[in-house]
Amino acid sequence: MRRTVSATLALVLAFTPAVAPVARAQYATPAASARASAPAASTLPDLGDSAQVALSPAQERKIGETALKQLRAAGAYLNDPEVNDYLNELGQRLVAARNDARADFHFFGVPDPSINAFAMPGGFIGVNTGLILLTQTESELASVLAHEITHVTQNHMARMLENQKNSLLMSLAALAVAILAARSGSSSSDMVPAAIASAQALQVQNQLNFTRENEYEADRIGFQRLDAAGFDTGGAAALMERLQKASRFTDGNVPTYLRTHPITYERIAEAQARAQSKSYRQVADSLDFQMVRALLRSYAGRSDEAVAWFDNGLAERKYNSEVAARYGLVASLLRDKQFARAKKELAALETIAPPHPMIEAIAAHVLMDSGEAAAAVTRLEAALPRYPNKLQLVYDYPDALIKAGRPAQASAFAEAQLQRFPQNGPLHEIAAKAYAAQGRSLKQHQHLGEYYAWMGNLRLAIDQLELAIKAGDANFYESSVVETRLRALRLEQAEQQKEGFGRSTG
Ligand SMILES: [Zn+2]
Repeated sequence: MRRTVSATLALVLAFTPAVAPVARAQYATPAASARASAPAASTLPDLGDSAQVALSPAQERKIGETALKQLRAAGAYLNDPEVNDYLNELGQRLVAARNDARADFHFFGVPDPSINAFAMPGGFIGVNTGLILLTQTESELASVLAHEITHVTQNHMARMLENQKNSLLMSLAALAVAILAARSGSSSSDMVPAAIASAQALQVQNQLNFTRENEYEADRIGFQRLDAAGFDTGGAAALMERLQKASRFTDGNVPTYLRTHPITYERIAEAQARAQSKSYRQVADSLDFQMVRALLRSYAGRSDEAVAWFDNGLAERKYNSEVAARYGLVASLLRDKQFARAKKELAALETIAPPHPMIEAIAAHVLMDSGEAAAAVTRLEAALPRYPNKLQLVYDYPDALIKAGRPAQASAFAEAQLQRFPQNGPLHEIAAKAYAAQGRSLKQHQHLGEYYAWMGNLRLAIDQLELAIKAGDANFYESSVVETRLRALRLEQAEQQKEGFGRSTG
């Protein structure tokens, strides 16, 4: 049965989506600055309730999933289970704090140093790594997620859809391109011709900014959500203020952007007034928040610089959490291929750390990288029953089994986990690797095809399924399963080409 829901078809810009005003994180991908030339927020006519569009939750979900694949295909999805698991735990806690969520939510990181977060149809909420690194307390980060969740629960995107005279998918394609164009120019230019990207981005951005009223409402109800979930309600104002202060010291047209963007001093003042109406609540940041930030910091810049950054911080005792700082050091040492020292520092970390799944995972990585795959298997076998839903561990265990020369157990484990986490791309990739090690061609290509489909690259997915059929080690039943799937993927590809997709996935 169809019901009337708002189509949450929008690129939702939370706080400043402009250039990164801080230079804390220099990622491997060059800093994004393309946004500086983006046009000012446009004012949309108030469409009120007439903007409700009949769209089933399933349709909305499908649109969101397709958009997510577009982001993955363009490298705009952070394929990091530690970060994504954390964002989901934090996000779900905020969603559950109020009774207004009609849809499922799915949170994911975006590997981009600029400051942004956005919601997509179907409750998909992306958070730039730059934003996670900018926030100084977990309540600040939670305030952004609460704001974005509210744009979804309050149906703020309906009016935008009304404005889109094109088909949903065309709007969606433009949406994905706009997100890409907003990212670092160089990393997305491989995928999307720059001229198309910028032209469409300007066009879409003109249509996709929220009204001032929507922003106030997202702030107001987001605040209630933040409060109900037990966070420090001062987080929203604190983050907005820091963004404004930081932007004052940036040249270029950022101030212009801030003058026109709905984030204003009024909004900050309202956030402060709201927080002052509550008695102050001291909220300690979770260790997960500190560790995820340390992990993201370990990815920044050259690997030897990351090691030096944590070494200096530890020497000068400049950290919020020693456990997180030592964890970041071990992650940086692994990245810098200093395995012997990583092992030593891990031992130091484990003497002060409480039991934690991220420490189990990094310990397994230290063992694997030190050539001790069997020991890694043992460690993961002990950790998994304690943390069965931690995807990092779920991925690492079959990986360790393959390295330990036990690929049949690895593929069996991956297949079993695919029952629990259907359509999980990384699990398909691991399964493909495990089958390759066993010389099982059909299964190898079949899973690799599913991995590419998850990545949004239909052309490569179809190639792999064709190879699976030709593999010659298939029985009749297996072949017909692959053929059915191949037909579905070809149909999907044809639809996307008709709708103007596909440009960016080659
Ligand atoms: Zn907003």
